[in-house]
Amino acid sequence: MNSYDVVIVGGGHNGLVAAAYLARAGRSVLVLERRDEIGGAAVSFRAFEGVDVRLSRYSYLVSLLPKKIVADLGLDVELRRRRMSSYTPSGGSGLLVDTDDAVRTASSFRAVTGSTSDFSAWQRFYELTGRVAGRVSGTLTEPLLSEVDFRERVGDAEAWSLLFERPIGETLRSWFGHDTVRGVVLTDALIGTFAPADGEDLRQNRCLLYHVIGNGTGDWDVPVGGMGAVTRSLAATAAAAGARLMTGAEVLSVDPDGEVRYRRDDTELAVRGGHVLANVAPATLARLLGEEPAEHPEGAQLKVNMVLKRLPRLRDPDVDPAEAFGGTFHVNESFTQLETAYREAAAGRIPTLPPCEIYCHSLTDPSILGPAERSAGTHTLTLFGLHMPARLFQGRNEEAREAALRATLASLNSVLAEPIEGCLLSAPDGKPCVEAKTPLDLEAELGLPAGHIFHRDLAWPFARDPAQAGRWGVETAHERVLLCGAGAVRGGGVSGIPGHNAAMAVLGSG
Ligand SMILES: Cc1cc2nc3c(=O)[nH]c(=O)nc-3n(C[C@H](O)[C@H](O)[C@H](O)COP(=O)(O)OP(=O)(O)OC[C@H]3O[C@@H](n4cnc5c(N)ncnc54)[C@H](O)[C@@H]3O)c2cc1C
Repeated sequence: MNSYDVVIVGGGHNGLVAAAYLARAGRSVLVLERRDEIGGAAVSFRAFEGVDVRLSRYSYLVSLLPKKIVADLGLDVELRRRRMSSYTPSGGSGLLVDTDDAVRTASSFRAVTGSTSDFSAWQRFYELTGRVAGRVSGTLTEPLLSEVDFRERVGDAEAWSLLFERPIGETLRSWFGHDTVRGVVLTDALIGTFAPADGEDLRQNRCLLYHVIGNGTGDWDVPVGGMGAVTRSLAATAAAAGARLMTGAEVLSVDPDGEVRYRRDDTELAVRGGHVLANVAPATLARLLGEEPAEHPEGAQLKVNMVLKRLPRLRDPDVDPAEAFGGTFHVNESFTQLETAYREAAAGRIPTLPPCEIYCHSLTDPSILGPAERSAGTHTLTLFGLHMPARLFQGRNEEAREAALRATLASLNSVLAEPIEGCLLSAPDGKPCVEAKTPLDLEAELGLPAGHIFHRDLAWPFARDPAQAGRWGVETAHERVLLCGAGAVRGGGVSGIPGHNAAMAVLGSG
């Protein structure tokens, strides 16, 4: 049986980060990826036959990838800042957050909310999260701090109470007067997280935290060339350092002593690793180990990819669609609308007015368009729909996907001056360029348990159990088997952090 210092189960971007660090440190590394391409949820794809547009098919924006990892590995990754942070239609106008123009943003808040107090509160809120980000983001690639030490690092009793102790719903109600403003902040707590604003387990707070601490700023930037460019750079770095990347290799079982069985080209094979790193979700790893999963995560989003012949017109005459869609465009995501959608979905119904957010990659980075599409003024739209849990699709995925897409496009149309359907590009086969991915589609395509985009609900970025302090947050019950994917402590998102931390755990163990 062949053996390697490290066998990595799954070739998502985190597996590639781990492979790159370990191979560069002189370890022999084999990555086994089930699909025919590496990258997991961080890939680009020509989704529509005959249309040369490379969509970031699943994940699309980058915030959490530390500059340290980019520098350590010498990655060729360009992240471009979006001029507009967000636009949220509200009545006949909308709330525009222009990153470079506080005066314009303030006047937009005044027009929507009728006062200046929410804008002041907004500035104070993001100063507070910015302070926390600056203090804790560096800890994500270090051994875990205890809760006490982490709290000391935050060094701000008000921030600790707001972000770490009280449900974010309470904070939003006490800080902001307007439903739309509360909702815009709340969305970052609900990406890939099925929870009410006041949920007592604070899942939503953890999700918000990861959305505001990336690289000490919480900025969400556009990967130039699409998400596939990030993965390509990682794969090239890992391969150049000597890691072997094998696609079409589905892992069937993992033995705690390091034996990994996998299938490739209808043949079953085995390999041994001094360490086995699991880039798959913890629930999947449990199955591969022949154990009962400790938890059953549930994803809760609808991802819709579109190619447009032109951007749609807005109801708001004061904002250019190119500005509104250049940042995050929030649709029916007021606090009340988000709570209503949560209640409907929790009761087993597709929300009547699905909340969703959209952004146009090609406005910030047209390099993903082929030459003909570029000169024709083609654009991409990426839509992320909230509160669409896997349970709505179980046993009826096809039919529910259609219904969810219909409801979502109707929700979008409710804030546009013209139906989006009239703006969709037609592929050469005459079909409109729109595709939808339910949580069950993500499970089938990527192996995400019930479509959970973070493999499991996000964890606090410190050691809850004091015995874990000083460790890397990647350990399992088996000494040789470590997590290196989104399900590790401080995993989730396109960050490479669990890949880095698993590699450090292996290197530290000799
Ligand atoms: C629709 C969607 C939108 C998202 N948007 C964003 C975003 O904009 N920004 C952001 O930061 N994050 C986003 N995320 C989350 C982010 O993409 C993930 O958290 C991240 O990609 C996880 O990376 P990973 O390497 O840990 O795991 P994955 O990307 O899940 O990779 C795991 C790999 O393991 C492979 N695998 C599974 N089972 C086996 C097996 N038995 N044998 C071999 N291989 C196996 C899979 O095929 C996959 O390639 C999004 C996710 C989704 C799905």
